[in-house]
Amino acid sequence: MMERPTAPNPQHRIVIVGAGFGGLEAVSNLRNVDAAITIIDQRNHHLFQPLLYQVATSTLATSEIAWPIRHLLHKYKNVKTLLGSVEGVDTAARTVLTADGEAIPYDTLVLATGARHAYFGHDDWEPFAPGLKTLEDATTIRRRILTAFEMAERDPDPARRAEYLTFVIIGGGPTGVEIAGTIADLARDTLKGDFRVIDPATARVVLIEGGSRVLAAFKEDMSSYAKAALETLGVTVHLGNPVTECHVDGVEFGGKSLRAKTIIWAAGVQASPAAKWLGAPADRAGRVVVNPDLTVPDHPEIFVIGDTATVGNGDKGMVPGIAPAAKQQGVHIAKTIKARLAGDQSSRPFVYHHAGDLATIGKRAAVTDFGWIKLKGYLAWWLWGLAHIYFLIGLRNRLAVALSWLWISVSGARSARLITQRDAAEAESE
Ligand SMILES: Cc1cc2nc3c(=O)[nH]c(=O)nc-3n(C[C@H](O)[C@H](O)[C@H](O)COP(=O)(O)OP(=O)(O)OC[C@H]3O[C@@H](n4cnc5c(N)ncnc54)[C@H](O)[C@@H]3O)c2cc1C
Repeated sequence: MMERPTAPNPQHRIVIVGAGFGGLEAVSNLRNVDAAITIIDQRNHHLFQPLLYQVATSTLATSEIAWPIRHLLHKYKNVKTLLGSVEGVDTAARTVLTADGEAIPYDTLVLATGARHAYFGHDDWEPFAPGLKTLEDATTIRRRILTAFEMAERDPDPARRAEYLTFVIIGGGPTGVEIAGTIADLARDTLKGDFRVIDPATARVVLIEGGSRVLAAFKEDMSSYAKAALETLGVTVHLGNPVTECHVDGVEFGGKSLRAKTIIWAAGVQASPAAKWLGAPADRAGRVVVNPDLTVPDHPEIFVIGDTATVGNGDKGMVPGIAPAAKQQGVHIAKTIKARLAGDQSSRPFVYHHAGDLATIGKRAAVTDFGWIKLKGYLAWWLWGLAHIYFLIGLRNRLAVALSWLWISVSGARSARLITQRDAAEAESE
């Protein structure tokens, strides 16, 4: 009896590293090609990062914004999913090198390994000011926020209690604004009546932005609205002075010290080390400077996409490091790879289409700018919510998230208020 082939075309091997927005879009657009595709990710789940702050602030559960990659791809018969961390690329031998010593051969390679937060040369700040990128980061921040209220309830010293009830967010981009607004909602609304000694509504939420406005990538009137909306929620916004020190007792900025037990880092990104793996040119944030068709200079067989790459967008500046850009790049390179497999080797420059900018401020306000329509306030919040629900994966998750938001909107109650896995740094700071 003849054995069935395990892959339709074992001659051409496509390896995709990273099953984030870019990698997942690439693989799903290659699902019918006559090639053997391997997708490798260091995590077993695809993460919807735009809602990560909602896990950090007890709004959503981890499983509502992350899904097993293996299951997402289980119907694609030409795709093999591997759990593994990539540590290098041997461009001469055309192999991807994993942390456990495996060398995975490729004919076409796609690197879509994203970015992480960066501390502008102050990596020692990370234990005091965790950033938000992974589910673990989100549950760490959630734990620190909730623990701070618990410690304040128990501490008889008013000065220390005030430190526990001070929450500092560094960085006034969408993530910083969203976290600040939601912590303010949590303190004034969700936790109301749950404590006997402290009044959670007295918590200070302080947003520190080094630049001259929050949401700097948005139009100026949107930034002003977001600042005013944050202040209405009780958030103190400091502009124009970057943080110069972060330590166990708080932060320093603009010549001032602010004592706080909870500090959250929402400033700066550093690309994954793909440029080092390839020995390719990179920008200051470590992003590979790719050709207009998203290939690596001198390596037409290697594509780099999403937050790991930097590429111009005609006269409209650089392509931004956001999810829609990564997804569009995933679609683009899938088309290029398909064309090449069909014999068309021509170079196809990537063109990015910007749909708009969105950010929420607490549970009742947002700013949305789609060019043709600009909204601020409650209506914008609904639009923001609908857009995010649309992009979630699976009907069950869409329903679960919509129900959670509806419930919070009506009652203020957040069901994901769980403190799990206290770490050593936290124990030390208490
Ligand atoms: C908190 C937060 C909020 C955000 N909010 C928004 C928003 O509201 N709107 C928006 O458009 N964008 C938002 N972004 C940005 C958006 O998430 C990114 O632009 C997008 O995820 C980039 O997609 P990507 O495919 O390049 O990388 P990612 O989606 O980050 O995927 C990278 C993948 O590569 C894997 N990986 C990394 N290194 C390795 C390795 N060495 N070996 C194996 N696998 C590896 C990772 O595990 C991950 O699965 C936000 C980002 C964050 C962190």
